[in-house]
Amino acid sequence: MGTIIKTVKQYSYELDNEHLKELLFIGNQYKNVKNYVYSRFSGINSIALLNKPRQIRDEWVKNEFAKQWKLPARYWKLALSEAMSNIKTQWSSIKKRIKEQVRINDNLSNEDKHYINYILKFEDFYHKVLTNEVFPIPKIFQHNDLNYKYLNNLIKRYTRKYKNKIPYSYKGNTFSIDEGLYSYKDSCINITCTKKGERLPIKLTDNNKHIRTLIVKIMGNRLEIHCPLRIKSKENRNDEKIIGIDKGYRYLFAVSSEKFYGEKSNDYLGKETERLNKVNTARNRFWALYNRYLEENNHIKANNIKENNLGKVKYNHNKQKHDQILKSYINYSLNQLIKVEKPTEIVMEQLDFVNWKDRYPKLVKRRLSRWIKGYIRERLEYKCDYNSIRYTYINPAYTSKVCNICGSFGIRKEDIFTCLKCGEIHADYNASKNILNRKYDKEIDLYTSYRKVKEILEKRIS
Ligand SMILES: [Zn+2]
Repeated sequence: MGTIIKTVKQYSYELDNEHLKELLFIGNQYKNVKNYVYSRFSGINSIALLNKPRQIRDEWVKNEFAKQWKLPARYWKLALSEAMSNIKTQWSSIKKRIKEQVRINDNLSNEDKHYINYILKFEDFYHKVLTNEVFPIPKIFQHNDLNYKYLNNLIKRYTRKYKNKIPYSYKGNTFSIDEGLYSYKDSCINITCTKKGERLPIKLTDNNKHIRTLIVKIMGNRLEIHCPLRIKSKENRNDEKIIGIDKGYRYLFAVSSEKFYGEKSNDYLGKETERLNKVNTARNRFWALYNRYLEENNHIKANNIKENNLGKVKYNHNKQKHDQILKSYINYSLNQLIKVEKPTEIVMEQLDFVNWKDRYPKLVKRRLSRWIKGYIRERLEYKCDYNSIRYTYINPAYTSKVCNICGSFGIRKEDIFTCLKCGEIHADYNASKNILNRKYDKEIDLYTSYRKVKEILEKRIS
């Protein structure tokens, strides 16, 4: 049993324009501070600085650099350290990916791998390698005859490959507040604003009081306040039971126990895509009309259209309402799955969880599936952590293309899988069974290439 982070939310009532304007200003400046930090400190030359945010803070105060943000100091300091820690996270994920690649690189000896891991472990060495600085070979390698030039170049090459673009925050509607920036009183949260010594009172729908760093999100004309709480996870008293799960053809989840969960997901998704389609068509029509009135110099009519028919607030509000319905359904389905299956471990593939009927435009599908995919994964991991269920990701290659009984390649057509030897079987059940079996596969791990997996599978049946 451990502890997990649970996000508790508080909501405000509708805000008046003045409050909204002030909060949006803070959110926007907060974003600007972060983006400045990203652009300035994401590079190789700043690696050494990442562990000294204090130094940057002091400098910004001393030379009055921070004045440009027009924010109380506590705000920009929070934004600064948030951005710095995001950059640090980015570097550690680069290193993690390099280590993974090094592990499966057959051209490297164990000593080579040891050297690379050693360099990655020490910021100072890593920095020197990346900036081509000459340095004496670390003591523990002095007796080895390794091709250091080649290895250092490999580290650089991998780093270039995995160093993504400089992070950039687009959202001006989110910022953090620490305990010095707010207080609760009379079912209000009072948030420090840009006017000296003043706080904005914001009426909340509940009387809860939290004491920690909170995240403020401006959603339309209301606030959502997110509070990360540390809670104890539940003890898992079930008998050992390991299940494989897959996205179903018609369902949200297909389980290796031959059960399915979330049979209504396609209906919800269909409704939502249809709605988005309609909204977009209508908006395009109003935009055309708006532009025509402008061309005709009819500003009154143009403005009427703009105010009455192109309102973003209403559009966002409807979208949030629909998203919320889908989210509830995903959570409900996950709860059912955990309640009925009583697993101690869930095995799954790292893939998109959503299936689509084909009649929707690509753009709409892409937009929806991105957040749903992320959301399902996040909730699944959260619920596993909370219920003390282990979860394992496996290599998904060919799990829907081979028979789970004899291993032959078969044909999948909608929800029927046909194996020439074993006959017909439910395709989702077959896939989830293969996913479960993959966990015990000694030859195929998460990093085995698609091609290699095929080779291995073909060899097994011949
Ligand atoms: Zn078969």
